[in-house]
Amino acid sequence: MLMDFQSLISSHPILQSIADAEEVVWYNTAHKPYEICRGALPVSSANIQDASDRLKRFAPLIRVLFPETVPAQGLIESPLREIPNMKALLCGAADAIGRLYIKMDSHLPVSGSVKARGGFYEVLKHAEELALANGILRDEQDDYLKLLSESAKSLFSTHKIQVGSTGNLGLSIGLMSRALGFQAIVHMSADAKQWKKDLLRSRGSEVVEYEGDYGAAVQTGRILSDQDPTSYFIDDENSLDLFCGYSVAGERLASQLSEMKILVDEANPLFVYIPCGVGGAPGGVSYGLKEQFGDNVHIFLIEPTQAPCMLLGIETNLLNKISAQDIGLTGKTEADGLAVGRCSSLAGSVLGKIIDGEITVADNRLHSYSRMLFESEHIFIEPSAAAAFHGPAELASAHSNSPLSAEFIKKGTHIVWATGGNLVPHEVRSDILKSEEGHL
Ligand SMILES: *Cc1c(COP(=O)(O)O)cnc(C)c1O
Repeated sequence: MLMDFQSLISSHPILQSIADAEEVVWYNTAHKPYEICRGALPVSSANIQDASDRLKRFAPLIRVLFPETVPAQGLIESPLREIPNMKALLCGAADAIGRLYIKMDSHLPVSGSVKARGGFYEVLKHAEELALANGILRDEQDDYLKLLSESAKSLFSTHKIQVGSTGNLGLSIGLMSRALGFQAIVHMSADAKQWKKDLLRSRGSEVVEYEGDYGAAVQTGRILSDQDPTSYFIDDENSLDLFCGYSVAGERLASQLSEMKILVDEANPLFVYIPCGVGGAPGGVSYGLKEQFGDNVHIFLIEPTQAPCMLLGIETNLLNKISAQDIGLTGKTEADGLAVGRCSSLAGSVLGKIIDGEITVADNRLHSYSRMLFESEHIFIEPSAAAAFHGPAELASAHSNSPLSAEFIKKGTHIVWATGGNLVPHEVRSDILKSEEGHL
């Protein structure tokens, strides 16, 4: 416990409810117009452009490595789909939230989670740097299919990529690293699901298991990697590269919305709900969205009641200096991807300036949100991703302290960012959808 917990509570009364593991809806009353805070962020639009350009350079290689990306010309991207039946289940007859969509990062090619955005990006960037330094690529205009050559393979096979993960980041890093021929070592926290470890091992990654939580897996992984000059550590708590890979989602979503003729402006606000663990994925995605839509996008993060690390970090302004465990929470949740006790200070410093709010959700709702979506729309997402549905469910009911009027919320286009699910094995799905056996 933090020594000064009582004094923290007196300056941040909501901490009492958070410490009691109650579900809360928190509005970020400190957030300013985007033009005002934009210049103070530790990232710029040039970072997004650089990441976007790099992913385009790699697209011809991705097409060959992963043929399922051929229809998208080698870009790793996911559908945006309207889900009216789920909306009816969430809000009933009261038409409180405008139209409801799902951004299906749960179905991103290859690794089936949002981690494909940041995770793949950082592995590719590292591979590009090595290839340029070792004369495999002449320059950035060179033919990136050279990375499939025997000389590239033998270069990469002498290098290791390591990462600490609750599951999905490890999957993305491990699968992409192995596809390029790197050695991959994934340090998995106790929360990681068995099937994720099994899948990684079957594709040639080394998986190291920890008794402790995500923070412990990252810390040990980082130390081991730093001792080895041939090893590169992907650091979910601090990585600007991961963050930038995620941020490319902003321009991708903007073009999908315009293709679907969905207008976003002052009169037609966009609401986005993103599940948050350490913060890298929601941080990068949110930043990319803000760069596209400025004050017309309203972002809400969703965290489990036992692991609300980002809410704690932002509300107290202590960022990574406070943990869920410090206030007596367990940090344990069925939402494995969100089982993080301490947020990233990089992500938190951005998110605190740009999000509209945070909503926490109790574990006992997660499977039912997964089930409702599967029942109503035949889309399966994992519990960590289904957590996001608690966002529109809460915004649909009036809150006395809400700075957003019911009328404004109703005018909006609402997007739930589904962060994972497509690789979940059949037996595990059946467990999650238990009451729906026979419909599978
Ligand atoms: C990792 C993950 C998140 C959250 O991303 P962070 O970068 O950890 O905040 C959300 N949902 C799923 C399914 C994830 O795997």
